[in-house]
Amino acid sequence: MSTGSTGHVPHPAGGQVAGGRQALLRQEAESLFPGGVNSPVRAFGSVGRPPLLIDAGEGPRVRDADGNWYIDYIASWGPAILGHAHPAPVEAVRETALRGFAFGATSPLEVELGNRIRNAMPSMERLRFTSSGTEAVMSALRLARGATGRDIIVKFAGGYHGHGDSLLVDAGSGLATLGLPGSEGVTGGAARDTVVVPYNDPTAIAQVFERHEDRVAAVIVEPVAANVGVIPPQPGYLEWLREVTASNGALLIFDEVITGFRVARGGAQARYGVTPDLTTLGKIIGGGLPVGAYGGRNDLMRHVAPEGGVYQAGTLSGHPIAMAAGAATLDLLTEDVYLAIEETAAELETGLRYAAQQAGREVAITRVGSLLTLFFRPTPPRNWAEAGTSDRAAYARFFGAMLDQGILLPPSQFEAWFLGASHTSAEITATVAAARRAFAA
Ligand SMILES: *Cc1c(COP(=O)(O)O)cnc(C)c1O
Repeated sequence: MSTGSTGHVPHPAGGQVAGGRQALLRQEAESLFPGGVNSPVRAFGSVGRPPLLIDAGEGPRVRDADGNWYIDYIASWGPAILGHAHPAPVEAVRETALRGFAFGATSPLEVELGNRIRNAMPSMERLRFTSSGTEAVMSALRLARGATGRDIIVKFAGGYHGHGDSLLVDAGSGLATLGLPGSEGVTGGAARDTVVVPYNDPTAIAQVFERHEDRVAAVIVEPVAANVGVIPPQPGYLEWLREVTASNGALLIFDEVITGFRVARGGAQARYGVTPDLTTLGKIIGGGLPVGAYGGRNDLMRHVAPEGGVYQAGTLSGHPIAMAAGAATLDLLTEDVYLAIEETAAELETGLRYAAQQAGREVAITRVGSLLTLFFRPTPPRNWAEAGTSDRAAYARFFGAMLDQGILLPPSQFEAWFLGASHTSAEITATVAAARRAFAA
């Protein structure tokens, strides 16, 4: 198989070498951290493999602690859109770090990144940086409730918006993978004001507004559902959400933590031409460092302290090093780069489709820009209920067969594959060839 320009040869054993450094570290990690990980999606439980420990990355590849290289489709769960260790953000981080890490005061770099975001997403007339996507979402909800004086938040089954209490109901990502309906430790009170409806179902959302007239503060949606595998919005659906929220005095929040600077530079709101009241961001805007942001209409953002009474704060919010990495990353994400990534992703989609067909496998592939999912079910799902019927055991076998050939896919049927600017035709060819063998097995 082709190993691309860097010349790293993926180890045929796929990092499962017994007695290696990885096995020892894994044991120690298990004694230190629940499940051996610091975020559940890093555990490989649902694919029946021991989790990898990754200690380096370069372009589209990552290296495990035993020295095996893999073509990577996790991309740090989205942020690594330029590939790993891209020289521009690396240099920006180095330069910034040399001047000191953080000062508990506004840094010019916050203005730099803030301007880049607002230029790409004009609906974010003003914004606030946080240290994670979770925090951004929690803050946006508090703001929505504070600004409207209403309580209820509507979310979609399978929508993942970080691990804030009120949104851990029928959530995607790690909860979907683990088959959990919600989290223990969340009080009935925290979940009481959350209403869950199926995605892509215009009637369901209309019924919520009939039942809870004047009580809905906001509808929060991943405009492209990407935490139960990728599920695109049906034509007209986002427009309908815009209309039904506006006519009921509720806010529309786009959680673009994944889709922002991913499905287009201006996010899903640019790709689909629908303008939300508030937007949450994370992942790509930090270039791989911890970050989040929320923002929107000025008349709403005026409610945030110290201008208004909705309190939200953070010691390391807008961290200079994250701002520098984010700005350097966004500067390289030109329209041409998005076109190129889209082309690479389409090439992968076509190749996988053909490979599955040849092997007589019934699979469905969904894709929006550089987000892709291979569902082990005959038709593309329209919502989480449908996605959830995918054959997880078949995905687990496919994942293992790919890993053994040096291809690292998300360790869950219900997570997107992330392509980026460093994936070239060489990686796609190698991936499709591996998939052909995996389907055949
Ligand atoms: C990842 C994610 C979050 C949470 O961001 P963290 O930085 O992990 O807290 C929120 N919303 C969506 C859509 C995400 O994909």
